[in-house]
Amino acid sequence: MNRRAELAEYEAMVKECRACPLRDGCRQVVFGEGNPEARLMLVGEGPGAEEDRLGRPFVGAAGQLLDRILIAGKFPRPEVYIANVVKCRPPGNRLPLPNEVRACRVHLDRQIEIINPQIIICLGALATQTLIDPNARITRDRGKWARKDGRLIMPTFHPAALLRDPAKKRPVWEDIQKVMAVYHDNAVI
Ligand code: SF4
Repeated sequence: MNRRAELAEYEAMVKECRACPLRDGCRQVVFGEGNPEARLMLVGEGPGAEEDRLGRPFVGAAGQLLDRILIAGKFPRPEVYIANVVKCRPPGNRLPLPNEVRACRVHLDRQIEIINPQIIICLGALATQTLIDPNARITRDRGKWARKDGRLIMPTFHPAALLRDPAKKRPVWEDIQKVMAVYHDNAVI
């Protein structure tokens, strides 16, 4: 089975998931979207109101900002894959609870396994703590490459944080430039 078919089959399964209480409070499972053979994958926190309504990740205000970041980095959205740590919207956009993150982890791990990206960008603290180090602090650790299972992982601020604090735009751009050097120019880390 090719990656597209494998991912589609897994998505259909996750759409039926009820492994944690988040599913009871949301409209639908937001699995993720993009290129099943992406070299670059971005992982956020969880769906917000717009994402829950449309069933797509990063389509609200933070998503529009992410689109601009992707364009600036010359990573067109159809070329990458975008997902979240949890696939169901936490009520009132609260942070996902540890038991919810644990329950949904298997889905994120399987997505990463199927897509097999060379680079992952963690958008915000939760993705960074989930994929790199539970004790990570985004303000301290952003911009530093991590290496896991043969992949390079770059933590940076979540686009929603940039909307609240535009001063974070410069450090995010610095982090994106590091990713560009590897993605476009095969820079060795
Ligand atoms: Fe399943 Fe994840 Fe949704 Fe919880 S958040 S119900 S684990 S898909």
